[in-house]
Amino acid sequence: MSIANAKEMMVKALEGKYAVGAFNVTDLLQFEAVIDAAIETKSPVIVQTSVKPSQFLGTDMMVAIYRTLAEKAPVPVCLHLDHCTDIDYCNKCADAGYTNIMIDASKQSYEENIRQTKAVVDYVHSVGNASVEGELGTVGGVEDQIKVAEDEAQLANPEQSVEFVQRTGVDIFAPAIGTAHGVYKTKNPKIDTERMATINKLLNGNGIKTPLVVHGGTGLPEETIKKLLAAGGAKFNVSTELKRVLIDAKWEYISAHRDEYDPGKLDKFVRDATRKAVIHWMQMIESVGHA
Ligand SMILES: [Zn+2]
Repeated sequence: MSIANAKEMMVKALEGKYAVGAFNVTDLLQFEAVIDAAIETKSPVIVQTSVKPSQFLGTDMMVAIYRTLAEKAPVPVCLHLDHCTDIDYCNKCADAGYTNIMIDASKQSYEENIRQTKAVVDYVHSVGNASVEGELGTVGGVEDQIKVAEDEAQLANPEQSVEFVQRTGVDIFAPAIGTAHGVYKTKNPKIDTERMATINKLLNGNGIKTPLVVHGGTGLPEETIKKLLAAGGAKFNVSTELKRVLIDAKWEYISAHRDEYDPGKLDKFVRDATRKAVIHWMQMIESVGHA
Protein backbone atom coordinates (compact mmCIF):
# COMPACT_ATOMS: atom_id res chain seq x y z
CA MET A 1 0.00 0.00 0.00
CA SER A 2 1.83 3.06 -1.19
CA ILE A 3 -0.86 5.71 -1.28
CA ALA A 4 0.68 8.92 0.04
CA ASN A 5 -0.07 12.61 0.11
CA ALA A 6 2.38 15.18 -1.22
CA LYS A 7 3.09 16.96 2.05
CA GLU A 8 4.38 13.90 3.90
CA MET A 9 6.72 13.08 1.00
CA MET A 10 7.98 16.64 0.75
CA VAL A 11 8.68 17.05 4.45
CA LYS A 12 10.94 13.99 4.22
CA ALA A 13 12.51 15.37 1.05
CA LEU A 14 13.37 18.70 2.68
CA GLU A 15 14.88 16.89 5.65
CA GLY A 16 16.90 14.66 3.30
CA LYS A 17 17.87 17.54 0.97
CA TYR A 18 16.35 16.08 -2.16
CA ALA A 19 13.11 16.79 -4.03
CA VAL A 20 10.15 14.76 -5.26
CA GLY A 21 9.43 14.73 -8.99
CA ALA A 22 5.87 15.55 -10.03
CA PHE A 23 5.08 14.41 -13.55
CA ASN A 24 2.01 15.31 -15.58
CA VAL A 25 0.36 12.43 -17.39
CA THR A 26 -2.52 12.24 -19.81
CA ASP A 27 -2.94 8.50 -20.21
CA LEU A 28 -2.37 5.06 -18.70
CA LEU A 29 0.88 4.45 -20.55
CA GLN A 30 2.54 7.56 -19.12
CA PHE A 31 1.11 6.77 -15.69
CA GLU A 32 2.76 3.32 -15.80
CA ALA A 33 6.04 4.71 -17.13
CA VAL A 34 6.31 7.26 -14.30
CA ILE A 35 5.73 4.57 -11.70
CA ASP A 36 8.19 2.24 -13.52
CA ALA A 37 10.84 4.96 -13.09
CA ALA A 38 10.01 5.46 -9.42
CA ILE A 39 10.27 1.73 -8.69
CA GLU A 40 13.49 1.35 -10.66
CA THR A 41 15.17 4.25 -8.86
CA LYS A 42 13.50 3.73 -5.47
CA SER A 43 12.10 7.24 -5.57
CA PRO A 44 8.93 8.68 -4.05
CA VAL A 45 6.83 10.13 -6.88
CA ILE A 46 3.90 12.43 -7.58
CA VAL A 47 1.76 11.73 -10.62
CA GLN A 48 -0.14 14.82 -11.74
CA THR A 49 -3.10 15.40 -13.97
CA SER A 50 -4.18 18.76 -15.29
CA VAL A 51 -7.89 19.46 -15.17
CA LYS A 52 -8.61 18.55 -18.82
CA PRO A 53 -7.14 15.01 -18.81
CA SER A 54 -8.72 14.47 -15.43
CA GLN A 55 -12.12 15.41 -16.86
CA PHE A 56 -11.52 13.46 -20.08
CA LEU A 57 -10.88 10.16 -18.33
CA GLY A 58 -13.04 11.04 -15.33
CA THR A 59 -11.96 11.32 -11.71
CA ASP A 60 -13.12 7.81 -10.83
CA MET A 61 -11.09 6.28 -13.68
CA MET A 62 -8.00 8.31 -12.73
CA VAL A 63 -8.24 7.27 -9.11
CA ALA A 64 -8.88 3.62 -10.05
CA ILE A 65 -5.70 3.61 -12.18
CA TYR A 66 -3.82 5.39 -9.40
CA ARG A 67 -4.86 2.98 -6.67
CA THR A 68 -4.26 -0.10 -8.81
CA LEU A 69 -0.71 0.98 -9.67
CA ALA A 70 0.21 2.64 -6.36
CA GLU A 71 -1.03 -0.10 -4.07
CA LYS A 72 1.31 -2.66 -5.60
CA ALA A 73 4.26 -0.26 -5.97
CA PRO A 74 6.94 -0.53 -3.26
CA VAL A 75 7.40 3.26 -3.30
CA PRO A 76 5.11 6.09 -2.12
CA VAL A 77 2.93 7.50 -4.90
CA CYS A 78 0.75 10.61 -4.76
CA LEU A 79 -1.98 11.60 -7.23
CA HIS A 80 -2.08 15.38 -7.66
CA LEU A 81 -4.62 17.63 -9.37
CA ASP A 82 -2.66 20.40 -11.07
CA HIS A 83 -3.66 24.08 -11.43
CA CYS A 84 -7.37 23.81 -10.81
CA THR A 85 -9.22 27.15 -10.73
CA ASP A 86 -12.59 25.65 -9.81
CA ILE A 87 -13.25 25.04 -6.11
CA ASP A 88 -16.01 22.51 -6.81
CA TYR A 89 -13.74 20.43 -9.07
CA CYS A 90 -10.95 20.54 -6.46
CA ASN A 91 -13.37 19.18 -3.89
CA LYS A 92 -14.70 16.55 -6.31
CA CYS A 93 -11.18 15.22 -6.90
CA ALA A 94 -10.52 15.07 -3.16
CA ASP A 95 -13.76 13.11 -2.73
CA ALA A 96 -12.70 10.72 -5.52
CA GLY A 97 -9.34 9.97 -3.86
CA TYR A 98 -6.71 12.36 -5.22
CA THR A 99 -4.09 12.83 -2.50
CA ASN A 100 -2.93 16.35 -3.38
CA ILE A 101 -5.08 19.15 -4.71
CA MET A 102 -3.79 22.38 -6.21
CA ILE A 103 -6.21 25.27 -6.07
CA ASP A 104 -4.76 27.91 -8.36
CA ALA A 105 -6.43 31.23 -7.57
CA SER A 106 -3.20 33.10 -8.31
CA LYS A 107 -4.85 35.19 -11.03
CA GLN A 108 -7.39 36.51 -8.52
CA SER A 109 -6.78 39.40 -6.16
CA TYR A 110 -4.67 38.56 -3.11
CA GLU A 111 -7.70 38.50 -0.78
CA GLU A 112 -9.74 36.39 -3.20
CA ASN A 113 -6.83 33.99 -3.63
CA ILE A 114 -6.77 33.57 0.16
CA ARG A 115 -10.52 33.07 0.35
CA GLN A 116 -10.64 30.42 -2.38
CA THR A 117 -7.51 28.60 -1.21
CA LYS A 118 -8.75 28.47 2.38
CA ALA A 119 -12.12 27.14 1.22
CA VAL A 120 -10.40 24.23 -0.54
CA VAL A 121 -8.05 23.59 2.41
CA ASP A 122 -10.99 23.44 4.82
CA TYR A 123 -12.92 21.01 2.62
CA VAL A 124 -10.03 18.75 1.57
CA HIS A 125 -8.75 18.39 5.13
CA SER A 126 -12.22 17.31 6.23
CA VAL A 127 -12.28 14.55 3.59
CA GLY A 128 -9.20 12.55 4.46
CA ASN A 129 -5.60 11.91 3.58
CA ALA A 130 -4.96 14.68 1.07
CA SER A 131 -2.80 17.78 1.16
CA VAL A 132 -3.42 21.09 -0.61
CA GLU A 133 -1.11 23.24 -2.74
CA GLY A 134 -1.63 26.98 -3.21
CA GLU A 135 0.13 29.48 -5.46
CA LEU A 136 1.02 33.13 -5.03
CA GLY A 137 2.24 35.33 -7.88
CA THR A 138 2.05 33.97 -11.39
CA VAL A 139 4.02 31.41 -13.35
CA GLY A 140 4.55 32.37 -16.99
CA GLY A 141 3.42 30.30 -19.99
CA VAL A 142 0.37 28.08 -20.42
CA GLU A 143 -1.12 25.56 -18.05
CA ASP A 144 -4.51 24.34 -19.18
CA GLN A 145 -6.88 27.27 -19.10
CA ILE A 146 -4.43 29.75 -17.59
CA LYS A 147 -2.21 31.84 -19.84
CA VAL A 148 0.38 34.28 -18.56
CA ALA A 149 3.04 36.07 -20.59
CA GLU A 150 6.52 35.25 -19.27
CA ASP A 151 7.48 38.90 -18.86
CA GLU A 152 4.22 39.72 -17.06
CA ALA A 153 4.74 37.01 -14.49
CA GLN A 154 4.54 38.52 -11.05
CA LEU A 155 6.87 37.11 -8.43
CA ALA A 156 5.78 36.14 -4.92
CA ASN A 157 6.62 38.61 -2.15
CA PRO A 158 8.33 36.78 0.76
CA GLU A 159 6.46 38.45 3.65
CA GLN A 160 3.16 38.14 1.81
CA SER A 161 3.96 34.46 1.17
CA VAL A 162 4.16 33.83 4.91
CA GLU A 163 0.88 35.64 5.50
CA PHE A 164 -0.74 33.69 2.63
CA VAL A 165 0.35 30.35 4.08
CA GLN A 166 -0.76 31.29 7.59
CA ARG A 167 -4.16 32.59 6.56
CA THR A 168 -4.98 29.74 4.16
CA GLY A 169 -3.49 26.81 6.11
CA VAL A 170 -2.14 25.44 2.83
CA ASP A 171 0.12 22.35 3.16
CA ILE A 172 2.58 23.00 0.35
CA PHE A 173 3.24 26.29 -1.39
CA ALA A 174 4.18 27.36 -4.93
CA PRO A 175 5.73 30.85 -4.89
CA ALA A 176 6.22 32.42 -8.32
CA ILE A 177 9.97 32.89 -8.76
CA GLY A 178 10.27 33.40 -12.52
CA THR A 179 9.82 29.85 -13.79
CA ALA A 180 7.46 29.33 -16.72
CA HIS A 181 5.27 26.60 -18.15
CA GLY A 182 5.89 25.32 -21.67
CA VAL A 183 9.29 25.90 -23.22
CA TYR A 184 11.64 28.69 -22.11
CA LYS A 185 12.22 31.23 -24.85
CA THR A 186 15.73 32.04 -23.64
CA LYS A 187 18.63 29.71 -22.86
CA ASN A 188 19.13 31.24 -19.43
CA PRO A 189 15.72 32.00 -17.96
CA LYS A 190 15.80 34.47 -15.06
CA ILE A 191 14.93 32.40 -12.02
CA ASP A 192 14.97 34.12 -8.65
CA THR A 193 16.56 31.34 -6.57
CA GLU A 194 17.37 33.78 -3.76
CA ARG A 195 13.70 34.65 -3.41
CA MET A 196 12.99 30.92 -3.14
CA ALA A 197 15.62 30.55 -0.42
CA THR A 198 14.26 33.55 1.50
CA ILE A 199 10.69 32.23 1.41
CA ASN A 200 11.87 28.76 2.43
CA LYS A 201 13.80 30.18 5.37
CA LEU A 202 10.81 32.22 6.54
CA LEU A 203 8.46 29.24 6.27
CA ASN A 204 10.70 26.31 7.16
CA GLY A 205 13.64 27.83 9.03
CA ASN A 206 12.35 26.68 12.41
CA GLY A 207 11.00 23.23 11.62
CA ILE A 208 9.51 22.16 8.31
CA LYS A 209 5.86 23.12 8.01
CA THR A 210 5.16 24.16 4.43
CA PRO A 211 7.49 22.74 1.75
CA LEU A 212 7.90 24.64 -1.52
CA VAL A 213 7.03 23.66 -5.07
CA VAL A 214 8.86 24.59 -8.29
CA HIS A 215 6.58 24.87 -11.33
CA GLY A 216 7.80 24.89 -14.94
CA GLY A 217 10.55 22.27 -14.63
CA THR A 218 10.84 21.52 -18.36
CA GLY A 219 13.90 23.14 -19.88
CA LEU A 220 15.43 24.47 -16.65
CA PRO A 221 19.24 24.24 -16.84
CA GLU A 222 20.60 21.58 -14.47
CA GLU A 223 22.62 24.24 -12.66
CA THR A 224 19.40 26.12 -11.89
CA ILE A 225 17.71 22.92 -10.74
CA LYS A 226 20.56 22.34 -8.26
CA LYS A 227 20.27 25.92 -6.99
CA LEU A 228 16.53 25.55 -6.52
CA LEU A 229 17.07 22.27 -4.71
CA ALA A 230 19.52 23.97 -2.35
CA ALA A 231 17.04 26.85 -1.91
CA GLY A 232 14.36 24.48 -0.59
CA GLY A 233 12.50 23.32 -3.71
CA ALA A 234 10.95 20.03 -2.55
CA LYS A 235 8.70 19.27 -5.54
CA PHE A 236 9.58 19.86 -9.19
CA ASN A 237 6.75 19.85 -11.71
CA VAL A 238 7.50 18.44 -15.15
CA SER A 239 4.76 18.50 -17.77
CA THR A 240 5.82 19.76 -21.20
CA GLU A 241 8.83 17.43 -21.42
CA LEU A 242 6.67 14.32 -21.05
CA LYS A 243 4.20 15.57 -23.65
CA ARG A 244 7.10 16.02 -26.05
CA VAL A 245 8.52 12.59 -25.29
CA LEU A 246 5.11 11.01 -25.85
CA ILE A 247 4.55 12.60 -29.26
CA ASP A 248 8.17 12.39 -30.43
CA ALA A 249 8.57 8.74 -29.42
CA LYS A 250 5.35 7.78 -31.18
CA TRP A 251 6.45 9.64 -34.29
CA GLU A 252 9.91 8.09 -34.21
CA TYR A 253 8.59 4.55 -33.82
CA ILE A 254 5.85 4.82 -36.41
CA SER A 255 8.20 6.47 -38.92
CA ALA A 256 10.67 3.60 -38.56
CA HIS A 257 8.02 0.84 -38.57
CA ARG A 258 5.42 2.17 -40.96
CA ASP A 259 4.35 -1.31 -42.11
CA GLU A 260 4.08 -2.84 -38.66
CA TYR A 261 0.70 -3.00 -36.96
CA ASP A 262 1.57 -4.05 -33.42
CA PRO A 263 0.35 -1.51 -30.85
CA GLY A 264 2.11 -3.38 -28.04
CA LYS A 265 5.52 -2.67 -29.57
CA LEU A 266 4.67 0.98 -30.10
CA ASP A 267 3.45 1.31 -26.50
CA LYS A 268 6.57 -0.38 -25.15
CA PHE A 269 8.79 2.05 -27.06
CA VAL A 270 6.87 5.08 -25.74
CA ARG A 271 6.77 3.69 -22.20
CA ASP A 272 10.53 3.13 -22.22
CA ALA A 273 11.24 6.60 -23.58
CA THR A 274 9.02 8.16 -20.92
CA ARG A 275 10.57 6.06 -18.15
CA LYS A 276 14.06 7.19 -19.19
CA ALA A 277 13.06 10.89 -19.20
CA VAL A 278 11.57 10.52 -15.72
CA ILE A 279 14.63 8.69 -14.39
CA HIS A 280 16.82 11.54 -15.66
CA TRP A 281 14.73 13.97 -13.62
CA MET A 282 14.88 11.76 -10.54
CA GLN A 283 18.66 11.75 -10.80
CA MET A 284 18.82 15.56 -11.17
CA ILE A 285 16.60 16.20 -8.14
CA GLU A 286 18.39 13.46 -6.16
CA SER A 287 15.33 11.45 -5.13
CA VAL A 288 17.03 8.17 -6.14
CA GLY A 289 17.17 5.68 -3.26
CA HIS A 290 14.91 7.73 -0.97
CA ALA A 291 11.84 5.49 -1.08
ZN1 LIG B 1 2.47 24.60 -12.91
